[in-house]
Amino acid sequence: MDQPITIALTKGRILKETLPLLAEAGIHPLEDIGSSRKLIFETNLPHVRLIVIRGTDVPTYVKLGSADMGISGKDMLLEFGAEDMYEPLDLGISRCRLMTAGRVGEALPLGRVRVATKFVNVARRHFAERGIQVELIKLYGAMELAPLMDLADLIVDIVDTGNTLRANGMEPRELIAEVSSRLVVNKAAMKRKYQSIDAIVSSLAAAVQRRSGGEAVNVG
Ligand code: AMP
Repeated sequence: MDQPITIALTKGRILKETLPLLAEAGIHPLEDIGSSRKLIFETNLPHVRLIVIRGTDVPTYVKLGSADMGISGKDMLLEFGAEDMYEPLDLGISRCRLMTAGRVGEALPLGRVRVATKFVNVARRHFAERGIQVELIKLYGAMELAPLMDLADLIVDIVDTGNTLRANGMEPRELIAEVSSRLVVNKAAMKRKYQSIDAIVSSLAAAVQRRSGGEAVNVG
């Protein structure tokens, strides 16, 4: 008997890249997730269901075991912590970079640097490692606006093409981390439901491997 498995997915742009990969791994939601307002979806595998939540909440659901597994951006794992979770697979989707950025050509102030971000934990660690004194300003969106409005000297944000920065007179400065979506597994669930979880990890790993035409990246 297959043990019941709940997989937490990140809604939004990551979901669009996640669903084809799940399909390649043989997991198909029974309804069109994109056009539904439901949050829980059954799949063609009777023991597997999907929940669709905000990226910021995926680590919480998996850590606390409400979801056995999840698909989460590495940025979320760095920001909210990955304790009580394994991270067995880099899915290679939704790639982007966590970076610092500032106004084009502008030097940093000599004293304390004001940094606006929603990644306050990532930012705190990054600047502490460099011995730079910062004042962190937590924002929930449109980080690029903060330096333009003189709310901050720098931002820490996700950069993909760099178009958003350029359009707002900003430039990328330091790379903090390469980001992609990761498969995460609750540690206790991995023990209790090893068979079912291992089967899903293996089919996702095989799908990732087929896409890359090489070895699946095991990130431990
Ligand atoms: P871009 O203009 O292509 O550099 O995209 C940057 C904006 O898109 C940022 O404000 C991010 O919030 C968002 N973004 C781009 N890629 C991702 C991703 N993989 N995950 C989450 N947000 C992203």
